[in-house]
Amino acid sequence: MNKGNKLYEGKAKIIYETKDKNLLIQHFKDDATAFNNLKKAKVDGKGVLNNRISEYILTNLSQLGIKTHFIKRLNMREQLVKSVEIIPLEVVVRNYAAGSMSERLAIKEGTRLPRPIVEFYYKDDNLNDPIVTEEHAVAFNWASQLELDEMVTLALRVNDFLSGVMLAAGIRLIDFKIEIGRVFEPEFSGLVIADEISPDSCRLWDIKTGNKLDKDVFRKDIGNLKDAYTEVAERLGII
Ligand code: 5GP
Repeated sequence: MNKGNKLYEGKAKIIYETKDKNLLIQHFKDDATAFNNLKKAKVDGKGVLNNRISEYILTNLSQLGIKTHFIKRLNMREQLVKSVEIIPLEVVVRNYAAGSMSERLAIKEGTRLPRPIVEFYYKDDNLNDPIVTEEHAVAFNWASQLELDEMVTLALRVNDFLSGVMLAAGIRLIDFKIEIGRVFEPEFSGLVIADEISPDSCRLWDIKTGNKLDKDVFRKDIGNLKDAYTEVAERLGII
């Protein structure tokens, strides 16, 4: 499948058109960014690792009957994906307090939450992706109530799968973010997991040592990001 025009360039990925209007090519860059682009670096090999890790997770989700945009990996840095209409909400699931939740609510990082908590953030870099409620999402037509209910269900199913896979690899899934899109196909119309699921979009802590194996290594300058992502890929048996 040949790459067509560049449709969109984000912080970590580039999306290209293909000859088929329903299919896109998702290219994983080596760029690491944090704090809404305030901190930037190139991490050789990060894109290759995220391509493989996300392929592994989304393929396994599909096998469980959870629909995703992923079709196939094309090469070291690229995947063929379905063209979807992205819902402008980031869906975050938290099992333990960390990051913005710890800051906002003064809950110590690593505190086990009584149950997984699902949050929505409005995707807008100019506003720093603010946390929003379902009422905002419905009122401003970002998603319908029916879609929001399905997004919560999807996010919790991903959490169940991902927590288990990580646990088996000796890793605690602290939290993660997913993006969800709408597809309109003769055989299926509905919501699918889009974008990527990788150590860029999860918090992953080694169960024994508590060491971070995710983008916080870069955000907090506490080690080598490529080594951390390689460790995740190795433990999942991907490389
Ligand atoms: P927090 O709200 O604590 O900053 O992030 C919660 C979880 O969602 C973390 O695993 C974090 O990596 C992920 N996350 C939140 N916003 C983004 C984003 O804009 N991009 C990526 N890649 N991950 C995000």
